[in-house]
Amino acid sequence: MVKLDAMENPYLLPQDLRDEIARLVADAAINRYPDAGAQQLKEDIRRVSKLPPGMDVLLGNGSDEIIQLLALAVAKPGAVLLSVEPSFVMYRMIASFVGMRYVGVPLDEDFSLDPKAMLDAIRREQPALVFLAYPNNPTGNLFDAAAIKRIIAAAPGLVVVDEAYYAFARDSFIPHLAKYDNLLVMRTFSKLGMAGLRLGFLAGPAAWLSQLEKLRLPYNVGVLPQLVAARLLQHHDVLLAQAERIKQERARLLAALNAIVGIRTYSSEANFILFRVAKATQIFEGLKQRGVLIKSLSGGHPALADCLRVTVGSPEEDARFIAALQDTINQLA
Ligand code: PMP
Repeated sequence: MVKLDAMENPYLLPQDLRDEIARLVADAAINRYPDAGAQQLKEDIRRVSKLPPGMDVLLGNGSDEIIQLLALAVAKPGAVLLSVEPSFVMYRMIASFVGMRYVGVPLDEDFSLDPKAMLDAIRREQPALVFLAYPNNPTGNLFDAAAIKRIIAAAPGLVVVDEAYYAFARDSFIPHLAKYDNLLVMRTFSKLGMAGLRLGFLAGPAAWLSQLEKLRLPYNVGVLPQLVAARLLQHHDVLLAQAERIKQERARLLAALNAIVGIRTYSSEANFILFRVAKATQIFEGLKQRGVLIKSLSGGHPALADCLRVTVGSPEEDARFIAALQDTINQLA
């Protein structure tokens, strides 16, 4: 299969870096528990993420685990987790796992934030926790930064800006961290070529993170992910160069999709593209029969009727996807 369903980076690391990692792994003390404080890795994260002074870092086994940890920290009967719809499904799922009430505020028709609806919902629901994916998944857009700032100022609890796709986006809330005492920024290295390592982090004021640390299981990030991620972050330029290639390929893929009659694309600041097409479910199946796996969003949220999401792959993978898509559409016509 050409696998374009999970926003993975299609590129392997350069051979010299892979050899370096092989040596590191060979010498790793896997008979010992990991460094629970993960000091080296946190230093590397602070540096590459350009965290403002005074901001702390909490590590997670992927950012999924951090969403769970945040929800566990504020869950109590009646507590609300608020996000937008459609967005990343784990916000809603984890809210229900920990017994929180989930409130999803609908996005506008073009998937932009509805600031009035958000501010009304915040006043009405008094959410303990707000998640905003920036860029949003599965829509790919960045919300209006000024609207997010108003939401942060109005929220009675924590606001987490989830920057899973930061490497492909024009903007970030990391520079604003020090301006708000209820803002946290979450990132993952999954989309930057490390999905298999499982490493995400939360950045924010030490006063918050030291409380959240109490819920983190001590060894949630293993010896090997710590070692390998710290080394890769020392080669951050290699990872960013791959992200740059993906951004260039995103523009080519968008143009190729736009050239197909009957497809409506949504512009993306992430490493995937959302598009709408008639008979989306049949097209998804037709692609699968032709060896290409993407994500079908049809049948989920009503705003995503007839929507499909494709991860930006390598030029070869994307060419196979476009050919299979055109072939499927022709067959269905
Ligand atoms: N946040 C968003 C918006 C995502 O799309 C994803 C992955 N699909 C995650 C968080 C979780 O990523 P991971 O657990 O791999 O860090």
